[in-house]
Amino acid sequence: MGETVAVNNRTTHSHHSHHTLVDSLFRYAEFLKFGELHVKFDEATGLTAIIAIHNLKLGPALGGCRLYAYKTADKAIEDALRLAHMMSFKAAANHLKHGGAKAVLIKPKNFKELDHDAYFEKFGEFVDSLNGRYITAVDSGTNPQDMDIIARRTPYVSCTTALGGDPSPQTAVGVRRGIEAAVQFKLGKASVEGVHIAIQGAGHVGYSLAKQLAERGARLTMCDVNTDALQHCVDELGVAICLPDAIYDLNADVFAPCALGAVLNYDHIHRLRVPIVAGSANNQLSHRHYGDLLHERGILYAPDFVINAGGLIQATALYDHGDMKKSEQQINGIYDTLLEIFERAAKENHSTNEIAEKIALQRLG
Ligand code: NAD
Repeated sequence: MGETVAVNNRTTHSHHSHHTLVDSLFRYAEFLKFGELHVKFDEATGLTAIIAIHNLKLGPALGGCRLYAYKTADKAIEDALRLAHMMSFKAAANHLKHGGAKAVLIKPKNFKELDHDAYFEKFGEFVDSLNGRYITAVDSGTNPQDMDIIARRTPYVSCTTALGGDPSPQTAVGVRRGIEAAVQFKLGKASVEGVHIAIQGAGHVGYSLAKQLAERGARLTMCDVNTDALQHCVDELGVAICLPDAIYDLNADVFAPCALGAVLNYDHIHRLRVPIVAGSANNQLSHRHYGDLLHERGILYAPDFVINAGGLIQATALYDHGDMKKSEQQINGIYDTLLEIFERAAKENHSTNEIAEKIALQRLG
């Protein structure tokens, strides 16, 4: 075949090593200790869907359904594997009785011309065929209305309009609790009043987080590439703003990444002038060893898969017809979960993400 495939930051020249692209992905899946990988093609509706189920040890696996125009199928599969693995850690670290999974829909070029209902109904049938081992939910590119369509074909779906809808407000509550824990631990402050917090991203989570923090007297600086979203926060909450790239240089107390993954890279970590990083974005570390770099620089990092689980906690509780009061307490409990991780990391002189991974792995057996 001879093409070059980058999987998990390694480049494999299949021509030389006799490893094909599929080999690389299978080795990546084995490395992450999967699990199951399912693919569905449906010509009639235009659906190409991948479901990756990482681990079922703690219960049926819940994870969002991402709709994205992936350039290649291997990128889509790699993303599904990476995200499903993270969902296992997210659930385990937050005491949920669920495994981790993710669905990835490869958005076709002619998506707008497709029959939207037929597309999501077909995906619902695919989910249903896994007999409840996988429970789907909202993720980037999909919304509660899409979940309602899926629900015509399968009961294994959360975040429908009847089941909570958009999980971002609850994610933001969890992130706010995480910031409060970090501020308590690192700055010895019992509240965020007067604390300067730099939020990257004024989207669903960023806006909701800013609102809660503003109500509690925090000083906020925000940025977004979407100037309308940013202006909304200025008008409603009176936040200060900065250019997207300037957020890494701010002299603030907390940097809260709520936009993109992989923002904690070598360059950005060296620019940071904050004692705390705590935000909602998934996969914030561009490589897991950058957790050590943050630790060495004395920056307290709230591991992403612990702090951003509020939406997942609500989605699982609604799906399980659980006690919503308890779910609220669990989201508030992100505060204690993180304090425990911060204390253990300090005592054992390890990075916080390493400690969080250890805790999750232990629960996953
Ligand atoms: P969103 O799409 O609503 O908001 C993201 C915002 O980031 C957008 O306004 C976008 O314009 C902005 N942005 C993009 N590039 C930027 C840049 N370079 N600099 C500044 N801003 C930029 O997404 P969301 O639902 O608010 O999620 C935010 C992050 O949190 C994502 O990484 C997501 O994966 C993660 N997350 C979200 C949830 C949830 O419940 N929504 C749960 C867990 C994790």
